[in-house]
Amino acid sequence: MKITPIIGLEVHVELKTKSKMFCACSAKHFHIPPNSHTCPVCLGLPGALPVPNKTACLWCLKLGLALNCKVNKHSFFERKNYFYPDLPKGYQISQYQKPFTVNGFIKINGQKIRINRVHMEEDTAKSQHIDGSTLLDFNRSGVPLVEIVSEPDIHSVDLVKSYFQKIQQIVRYLGISNADVEKGEMRCEPTVNLKIEQDAKTFYTPLVEIKNIASFTGVLQALEYEIKRQAEEFKKSRQVKNNANKTTRGWNTDKQSTFLQRQKEGSADYRYFPEPDIPPIEWSDKEIKELKLSLPELPDQKIERYKKDFGLSDYNAIRLCEDLKFASVYEKAIGENPSQSFAKFVANLFLGPLNKRLNETEKQLDPNKIHHNFFSDLFDSVQKSAISSTVAKQLIVESYQTGESPLIIAKQKNLLQVSDTVEIEKLVRQVIKDNPKAVEDYKNNPNTIGFLIGQVMQESCGTANPQLVKQTLEKLLN
Ligand SMILES: [Zn+2]
Repeated sequence: MKITPIIGLEVHVELKTKSKMFCACSAKHFHIPPNSHTCPVCLGLPGALPVPNKTACLWCLKLGLALNCKVNKHSFFERKNYFYPDLPKGYQISQYQKPFTVNGFIKINGQKIRINRVHMEEDTAKSQHIDGSTLLDFNRSGVPLVEIVSEPDIHSVDLVKSYFQKIQQIVRYLGISNADVEKGEMRCEPTVNLKIEQDAKTFYTPLVEIKNIASFTGVLQALEYEIKRQAEEFKKSRQVKNNANKTTRGWNTDKQSTFLQRQKEGSADYRYFPEPDIPPIEWSDKEIKELKLSLPELPDQKIERYKKDFGLSDYNAIRLCEDLKFASVYEKAIGENPSQSFAKFVANLFLGPLNKRLNETEKQLDPNKIHHNFFSDLFDSVQKSAISSTVAKQLIVESYQTGESPLIIAKQKNLLQVSDTVEIEKLVRQVIKDNPKAVEDYKNNPNTIGFLIGQVMQESCGTANPQLVKQTLEKLLN
């Protein structure tokens, strides 16, 4: 029996515009008194008229373009009718027949995941369940929300994670949302069923949508659980129940299991119809072209440029580009038109010792503490063997912390490598004199030279140039 999960994702991203989607209220809804950013429009009072936020619409289009979608030049908003306490007007303004953008894709490790649509809608109010009552905060009601709907092209939970992170990365590169999952600025709802191949027959288990999962970790756990559950169900009955309807299941964090909520409503149940209070929206070719040109360098493009121009490995380029800010600070450190060897040297310092230090202190990289000349001085010194690459790693962390030039620290701490041949020869002679047994060993087996090198390094407090030590030892011993 071969089992393949078929997963599609609906990802919601809150845009960080100043005002809400259809009114002038501030879109800020964290750490402010409940229900302080509201007006008749976002409270859903009868007769209030919505006016679309142009910036939000343009940002939605930008995201669609960044996800390789086509723009619907003629588009309109629709009412999605359903009742819920956090939606007092009884419908959400969304897009259905003519979303802003359609038919895109993203690539993850060479695998293409098709994107059905990227459309614009509004967020609902926030319900809080406290001591048996439900409190509603309308500050979030009407905040611009973009929905990205994938095709069911995802076949593993790992790929769900990569897909979600990739969307988050692109959204952040575009600067249209902080996409902070903890704050609910980015959320996702998966649909999943299984393709089961057995005895030359193919079965599909009924489609399940998992809703209202509080965290992204919860989404991944719910998917793992649901894949197992559907496979077990199939094994029990050896057949698929004749139940073509999609069902909605919830996720119980305490029990770590999903539970049946309801038979899923189809789009007909929402009775979509064009929003009568907002005229249709037309995008001209010129506007679409300008938007395309205004797109910043996106993660994949940046990774390619780092590989091509700086000679970085796939792995290092991907890691540097994970976070736009980190990548920008790296570019500041290498300066303009760096040589490939310098760019690689700096990349290793960023991803090695600096990153380690940031993880230890749980801090973000501070661009003000990164100076191009720190890196170029270190690079030159390593090239000239005045500093070993091990010491360079230590120095860059100290320079980052203190703001002092690495070369000054090297001098103060006596970390400059001794490449003075007279000085080294003096040390080598002393070590040969003090270690007659090791010298004897060397004559029998030249591979034991490591011990003598170690002794000289120790005598020099680690500052001798090891290559020069080896050469001098060989010269004097032979
Ligand atoms: Zn309002």
